[in-house]
Order: sequence, then C-alpha cells, then structure tokens
Amino acid sequence: MQKAKCTAIVLAGGQGKRMGTKVQKQYLEIQGKPVLYYSLHTFQNSELIDEIILVVGENQEEYCRREIVDKFEITKVTKIVVGGSERYYSVWNGLCAIDEDGYVFIHDGARPFINDEILNRAYEAVQEEKACVVGMPVKDTIKIADENAFAKETPNRNFVWMVQTPQVFETTLVKKAYGMLMEQEYIAVTDDAMVVETMLGQNVKLVEGSYQNIKITTPEDLAIAEVFASI
Ligand code: C5P
Repeated sequence: MQKAKCTAIVLAGGQGKRMGTKVQKQYLEIQGKPVLYYSLHTFQNSELIDEIILVVGENQEEYCRREIVDKFEITKVTKIVVGGSERYYSVWNGLCAIDEDGYVFIHDGARPFINDEILNRAYEAVQEEKACVVGMPVKDTIKIADENAFAKETPNRNFVWMVQTPQVFETTLVKKAYGMLMEQEYIAVTDDAMVVETMLGQNVKLVEGSYQNIKITTPEDLAIAEVFASI
C-alpha cells in the first residue's frame, strides 16, 4: 500500500514573552544552532515526512528562509506562512496551506528534541486511531486548585499525562475540527487534541514521547536544552 502524504506543520510564530529576551525563543541558540533548527532537521531526515510547512511571525519569512531553511538545507520546506495572534490561528494558517490530504504532524518549533522513534510511534498510532498526541506520564503529583489556591482534587497520577507535540491527525479530520473552531466567537483551546475532542468528539490516543521533549519557554529551559543537546 502506498504511504499517505505526511506533512509537518512547524510553529514558530510565537512572541516568546515568557523568555524575557529580545530575540524570540525559537531563534535563540543551543550549541550554536537556533532552537528551531533542531526539529526541522529531524523532520527533514525522517522517512515519514514528505513536506514541511513552516509558520512564522509577521515579517519573518525572509529571515527564516535565509538564516534557517536555506542555511541548514531544510529542503522539505515547501511553504513559509505567516501565523496569527494565538497559536490556534497559526495552526489554522498552516492547515490551510496543505494541498494534499493524508496525515499532519503539528509541532511546536520551540520543542527541539523530537526524534525518529517518537515520530514513528505517532505515525503507527494515527493510522489506527486517526488522532494522537505525544506526551509523558507526570512524575509529580498534580493538584487541581480552586480559585483561592486551595487544593480541590488530586487526580490519580497513573492517569495524568503532560502533553507535548507533535500532535498528529488525519488531515481531513483536523481541518474540519479547526474549521468549526474558527466559526466560534469565544475560543479557549491550548492544544490541537482539544480541538478535535471538543468539536468532533474524536478520541485522541496518547503516545509516549520523551522527558527530553521539552518546550523552551523560560530561561532555565535553555540551560537544560544545552545539556540535552550535548549528550
Ligand atoms: O506560546 P507557546 O509556548 O505555547 O507556543 C508554542 C509554539 O507555538 C511555539 O513554537 C510558538 O512559536 C508557536 N506559536 C505560534 N503562533 C502563536 C503563538 C505560538 O506559532 N501565535
């Protein structure tokens, strides 16, 4: 059977305000290379991935093409599109740029440490289940707090996962869910799985990622990333 087309949408359209640096976090360097380079490189070398759509901030298309895509020879990038004011708008812009259905791997460009094993596990799961997200069981006990910061509930740790990316879907399914989301007036979503769960009632399979698959968000993450990149 012929392999379905697999597109990676790599999101790099955020402002990275929590990092507190002038340079956006996706362009900060780990071991001398931009954060964004690492996941693009993994998608570039993955046999599963046919094309990459890169989503960037306004007026950053030229810079990204020159300083990342061309410089590091990420030849699978077919389109560089401009994102929106929230992550879900950036995802939507990326989804609208896909020409051929198949599967889509939606990935935060701020997560440098994905690898082939993670992509392969996600691909197997999405073929069976249509929708899956990469994540890991939490290590700490989680408390649900009330509005006054008192512990209200303690969910069973065995069933609590922290969710990462890539989040992988049948392209038609996730496009439909996002299309419905875009019609709504009030939007409160923090990941892509939530969109297919709430809009379509779709079950989303959780797939093992890795504890190294961190998102670079605050300055200490960059120090940890230096360590991960060196081992
Ligand atoms: O802000 P957060 O850390 O959740 O961002 C996750 C990813 O989504 C980052 O790679 C960021 O660049 C991207 N993003 C985006 N467009 C936005 C906000 C975030 O592409 N408006």
